[in-house]
Amino acid sequence: MQTAEELRALLRRMDGRSYGAYRSLRGAWALGGGVALFVDRVQGDPFAAPSRMRLRLDSLDAGWPAALWRGRVRRIAFEDWLARRVADAIAREVRGRRGSGKSGRVFIDSGGQAVLERSAAQVEEGFVEARLEVGLPAAGRRVLGREAEELLAEELPRLAAAALPCSEAALREAQRFADCAENHAALQAQLTERGLAAFVADGAVLPRESGASQRPLRSGAVPFRAPDSLRVTLDLPNAAPGPDGEMQRAVSGLGIPLGVTLIVGGGYHGKSTLLQTLERAVHPHIPGDGRECCAALPSAVKIRAEDGRRVVGCDIHGFIRELPQGRSTAPFHSDDASGSTSQAANIVEALEAGAKLLLLDEDSSATNFMVRDARMQALVHRDFEPITPFVDRVRELHEALGVSTILVMGGCGDYFEVADTTIEMRDYAPRDVSAEARRIATAQQSGRVREARAPLRAARPRAPLPGSIDAKGRREVRIDVRGRDGLGFGEQHIDLRAVEQIVEPSQVRAIGYALHAARRFMTDGAALPGVLDELDALLDSQGLDALARGANLARPRRFEIAAALGRLRSLRVAVPPKGSNTGGGGED
Ligand code: ADP
Ligand code: MG
Repeated sequence: MQTAEELRALLRRMDGRSYGAYRSLRGAWALGGGVALFVDRVQGDPFAAPSRMRLRLDSLDAGWPAALWRGRVRRIAFEDWLARRVADAIAREVRGRRGSGKSGRVFIDSGGQAVLERSAAQVEEGFVEARLEVGLPAAGRRVLGREAEELLAEELPRLAAAALPCSEAALREAQRFADCAENHAALQAQLTERGLAAFVADGAVLPRESGASQRPLRSGAVPFRAPDSLRVTLDLPNAAPGPDGEMQRAVSGLGIPLGVTLIVGGGYHGKSTLLQTLERAVHPHIPGDGRECCAALPSAVKIRAEDGRRVVGCDIHGFIRELPQGRSTAPFHSDDASGSTSQAANIVEALEAGAKLLLLDEDSSATNFMVRDARMQALVHRDFEPITPFVDRVRELHEALGVSTILVMGGCGDYFEVADTTIEMRDYAPRDVSAEARRIATAQQSGRVREARAPLRAARPRAPLPGSIDAKGRREVRIDVRGRDGLGFGEQHIDLRAVEQIVEPSQVRAIGYALHAARRFMTDGAALPGVLDELDALLDSQGLDALARGANLARPRRFEIAAALGRLRSLRVAVPPKGSNTGGGGED
C-alpha cells in the first residue's frame, strides 16, 4: 500500500495535466490512523459517473464491539446506520464543489425511513468500510492537483475519522438502531407463531408528511390505538419506548389475524394510510419513524390493477375464464392488459413468488375484478362475464391456498359475508366491527350468487427462458436507474410504477443486476420459484456484492424481483405441462 505522502506527491505532479492522468490513482493508499483508501474506478471526465472509492478503517482502530452487529438483522442495521453516519459526516467535513461538473462532490448511498441491506457500508471481522462516489476535481478537462490533494489527503481522512470509529455516543445510537431492527424482526417472527398477518403498535404514527415524503406527519397526527377486542401484546427482545415514552420489553397493538380482513370506513378516515403502513411494514424502520413496531408478514404483497402492463404465460383462469373470441387465459398473454386481467395477473404472479398475504385497496383496484353485484348479475348473464370476482375467491385463497387478504373496501358491503375480521377506521382510529358486519350480512342478503364454477387451484409456475432476458445495451450490460419508478435494462425499459413496495432507487438497481444474475439459475426449464430461491440463497450467503461491485445497491425482496421480471417486455416463458411443477413443457 502506498503512503499518504506518495499520494500527495502524485497529485501535485498531476496538476494541470489532462484528466486521464487520474487513472494512476487506482489502487490502495494508507492515509494514516489505520485508514485505507481504495480507488476502484476512476471516472473518464469530470461530467461522467463519479469515481468509486472505499474508505476502510481497521477493526482495532474502529473499536466497534462485535456484539453490536452479531446476527444477520443487527449487521444489516449497523451497516445501514453506518452509511447514514458517513452521509452526515460528508455534510460536515467535505467542502463540496471544487471545479467543473462533479468535481469535489462526495456521496454515499444512505437510506431513507426503511432499514435495508445495502452495499454502501460494510462491516467485517477485520474492518469497517464506506463506499463512496467521489468527483475528482478538474478545471474543464485539466486535473486540479491541489484541490484533489485537499480532497483525498485531507477531507477523506477527516471524514473517515469522523464517521468510522466507535465513540460512546455513536455506540448508543448504533445500538438503538440495531435494537429497533431486531425488534421488528422479532415481531415478524411472532406473527407466524400467533396466527397473525400483521401488527400495528399502539402509539404508532401512521400518516406521512406528504404524498412525496415517507417522513412522519409532525403536527396533528393521531397516534394509533387498537380496539380492545383485537389488541395483542407481543414481546420485544430489546426495550423500546412505549406509547407513554417509558421503555418496555413488550408492545401492545392491533393484531390482524390470518384470513380475510376488511378495512372499511368513511372517505378520508385513514383506511389507505393503514394499508400503506402494512405495505411498508415488511421492512424495519428507523427509530423515530413512527412505524418502528409495525410488522407485516415478510411475504406480504400489494396487489393493484395496472392496465397496460405486459403479461406473459400467466394462468389467470381462476379469476378470468375465456375472453371474447375464445381467447384462453390459461395461460394468458397480453402486451396491454386491462384493469381486471392485470390485477388477476398480479395476484397469480405474487402467489407464484410465494406471497402469503395480499394487500388490496379499492382506490387502486378494478371494480369489475372486485365484485359483480346482484343487479349486474341480473342484467349481464354470467355466460358473458369471464370474470370470477375476487369476492368469490378470497375465502378459497385462505382456505385452500393458505393465503390471507387485507382489503380496504369502503364502497361495497358485498364483502361482509366473506370477511373474518372487519375493522372500521373512524377519525383515524380503528374499531372492531366484525360482529356488526356479520349481523348486517345476515339481515340484509346481498342477493348475489357465487360465480366460481370450479375450485381455485394454484397455477403451475412458469419457467422463464434465460435467452429472453438480455441486459446488454449496445455494447455492455446496461442497468440504468433514474428513480424508483423504472429500470433501463439492456435496450428495454421496465415500468415499475405499480410495484409499490419498492422503497428506493438502489433496490431498482439491484433488481436489474439480480435479473441479469438469475439467468444462470434458469437452466433446464427451472420454474420461477426455484430460481428465486437460488437468488435468495446467493444473496444470503454472499451479499449484494455477488450481484455487482461498485454499484449502489439495496436489497429488494424476491417479490419485487419477480414483479420486474414479469414486466420485462422481451420475457418468454415455458409453461410446464399439467401435473408438473418443474417445467419441461412447451414454450409459450
Ligand atoms: P381513506 O383511504 O380512508 O380515504 P387516507 O388514509 O387516504 O383515507 O387518509 C386521508 C388523509 O388523512 C391523508 O392525508 C392522511 O395523511 C391523513 N391521515 C391518515 N391517518 C391519520 C392520522 N392517524 N392522523 C392524522 N392524519 C391522518
Ligand atoms: Mg383510500
